[in-house]
Amino acid sequence: MTGHRTLVTYFSSQDGVLCAEGVPLPVIAEAVGTPVHVYSAAALRDAAHRFRSALAILPSVRVAFAVKANPNGAVLHLLAGCGFGADIVSGGEMRRALDAGIAASDIVFSGVGKTDRELADALAAGIGQFNLELEEEGQVLASLARARGRRATAVLRVNPNVDGRTHAKISTGRRGNKFGVAIADVPAMYDRLSRLEGLDLVGVALHIGSQLRDLAPLEEAYDRIGYLVADLRARGHVISRVDLGGGLGIPYRADDVVPTLDAYAAMVGRVTRDWDVELTFEPGRVVAGLAGVLMTRVIWVKPGADHPFVIVDAAMNDLARPALYDAFHRFEAVAPDGERMVANIAGPVCESGDVFAVARDIDRVRRGDLAVLHATGAYGAAMASTYNCRALSPQVLVDGDRFEIVADRYLPEEFAA
Ligand SMILES: *Cc1c(COP(=O)(O)O)cnc(C)c1O
Repeated sequence: MTGHRTLVTYFSSQDGVLCAEGVPLPVIAEAVGTPVHVYSAAALRDAAHRFRSALAILPSVRVAFAVKANPNGAVLHLLAGCGFGADIVSGGEMRRALDAGIAASDIVFSGVGKTDRELADALAAGIGQFNLELEEEGQVLASLARARGRRATAVLRVNPNVDGRTHAKISTGRRGNKFGVAIADVPAMYDRLSRLEGLDLVGVALHIGSQLRDLAPLEEAYDRIGYLVADLRARGHVISRVDLGGGLGIPYRADDVVPTLDAYAAMVGRVTRDWDVELTFEPGRVVAGLAGVLMTRVIWVKPGADHPFVIVDAAMNDLARPALYDAFHRFEAVAPDGERMVANIAGPVCESGDVFAVARDIDRVRRGDLAVLHATGAYGAAMASTYNCRALSPQVLVDGDRFEIVADRYLPEEFAA
């Protein structure tokens, strides 16, 4: 996948020092401190443009960036400039998207537990599409809309019962997952919801999981949606939109094989050829994942039973994916000396799960050295917490040879006291 180019081009060594575009990372560490999330604007623009141009073979497309992958305001603003709307899952994400300049009509409201308050605020803001998760949500939304003299545009999220063959905690399209309406129940429910005053039901949505490394489950799910659309039309419904969700994987390891965007677009074109609908896509990881690194400083190299522990100043509260999903993130010294070592890499948090790598062959590092964990642009800072009363790490956006702090280091006041 062309994502590999992102790794090579936007975070690469110049004169032995790792840079983000034209900025040597030690300059950022000096100015902002560590740990710090560093994003490349060029990598984001490049990924956004590659996504859009791959899909240009399809007749009618809307792209809504999944805000949960990276809700940074500057990142959202940049992606809005690339023609992306937003896929949100909370009132907080709605605020972020609107503040970043994304038009309400370009926002899709997903999420399995929208509160009445969130629904009402989204109606007031004029959100472009509500993705309904259950019949009762449609009834509540319809009555909230009626009470305000409005109509809500909605689609019904379908659970197609397809296994995305990804990590269980990011698989969402199987029977038994909490998301969507069982596909067999959809036609009758669609009949009932479409009769509600205040609701414009215009189609269906699905999203089967994240970090999908194979197109086959997506194709199977989309196929099922095709039959469903035909069935709904046969029942007299006008279906004008289908939201195909997100989920495309990225190469976290140098040798990971993931679908190319062109292969994905070709598959979608083939499956949806006769659908005659506007297609919505909700990419998150594939746009932002490779556009960020987490820079950290080595606090100690501590002897261990089998291997030394490289204790770094970043932890699971900065990057939860390894602790949550046993996820792999490449580790690279900012100024490697050419030697290697085998080590465990761990953060300071008081959990044995606060480990980024076990028995990994890495650049040799010493106390005080800088290093990065790669591919942290999606679900990195987005999932950060203040566990152990640690600060939320700052975020920096690099553009060419300049950089800007786009989120300050943040420690709740009561922790600092
Ligand atoms: C998380 C999510 C996405 C984005 O998933 P990625 O794997 O990051 O592309 C899209 N749509 C919905 C409904 C989601 O929950």
